[in-house]
Amino acid sequence: MSVFSSPSFDQHELVAFTEDPATGLKAIIAVHDTHLGAALGGCRMFAYANDADALEDVLRLSRGMTYKSALAGLPMGGGKAVIIGDPYTQKSDALLEAMGDFIDTLGGKYITAEDSGTCVANMKIIRRGTSFVSGVNDEEKFGGDPSPFTALGIYCGIKAALKHKAGLDSVNNISVAIQGAGTVGCYLIELLVKDGAEVFVADFNQANLDKAVLLGATPVAVDEILSLAVDVLAPCAMGGVINDESIATLRAKIIAGGANNQLAESRHGEYLRQQGILYAPDFVINAGGVIHIHHQHMGTVVDSRTHIENIGKTLLQIFALSDKQNLSTIEVAEQMAEAKFKNSIIVEKVA
Ligand code: NAD
Repeated sequence: MSVFSSPSFDQHELVAFTEDPATGLKAIIAVHDTHLGAALGGCRMFAYANDADALEDVLRLSRGMTYKSALAGLPMGGGKAVIIGDPYTQKSDALLEAMGDFIDTLGGKYITAEDSGTCVANMKIIRRGTSFVSGVNDEEKFGGDPSPFTALGIYCGIKAALKHKAGLDSVNNISVAIQGAGTVGCYLIELLVKDGAEVFVADFNQANLDKAVLLGATPVAVDEILSLAVDVLAPCAMGGVINDESIATLRAKIIAGGANNQLAESRHGEYLRQQGILYAPDFVINAGGVIHIHHQHMGTVVDSRTHIENIGKTLLQIFALSDKQNLSTIEVAEQMAEAKFKNSIIVEKVA
């Protein structure tokens, strides 16, 4: 793959690779931008088909973290790490310790946290090699898992979208289709059902689907969820689900969910605008987890809930500007984020 000309590379400050035959660790850390602060982003473990896919994923996610932190008002930059391997069969304490050593070589330019394929327990092992780890707080109700906070941010975002689109103040009697009944999806179902929404859910993992049904959601086939005629579609599974194929079948009025990189390409944001479908940009609406992780890292956890609720206010600003400027919501959100991090001087150089 070409690196420097790839849109995902987008002038990353640093990309580091490591391979440690003794533990089987193969990993990449990407630091996109540290103008606002150290690059905060999760460490994903996934059995990528090849190295190019891993590189593309880490670059795309790292860049997204810069935009996410900037718009969430965090004094943090954007970064991400990927471990190439199957988290179910290739993870070991030795591999995670080696990952900690690798993170430490960057001297705090990158701060890690849990992500797909890693968990709080894994972060505690990574911490043996480095202090640049967040999301490991035992004392909290959720043991450091950011997912309930991500779900809370999405819930606030859905309410903001309903306010903008239909002048509504509550989710009562609103229909929501959720793709993916994982940790974020299930916490979101709890919040929505409690407040009177009718929730549909699809997942090909039967155990997760069963859990969602117990929480009050109605199961739907995996190939039907994206095209349900509902008020809100909440993609909470994988990226790229709003693409040339799916977009023609959408019947939801609002798209507001937690998955990263929901639009296959940014031009799909403009298509949604032209169709009158209100899109809550993913890196804005799913920032609840990183906001909480930041507060954990700073020891200011009591403030995280109020901070997360601001996601709704930020989205209302984005929706209003999108209408005023005839620009897609994703373009508006990117411009707002860039105004924050591109106009700053690098924090390290100030200190
Ligand atoms: P998870 O792995 O717990 O759950 C994902 C679920 O989606 C799984 O149950 C999986 O079986 C299901 N799934 C995958 N492909 C599907 C498909 N095509 N149709 C239906 N179901 C499908 O992940 P999570 O932590 O709940 O995160 C969900 C999404 O939100 C991911 O894209 C993640 O990157 C993003 N995200 C998560 C957080 C967080 O705090 N966990 C924060 C920001 C963004």
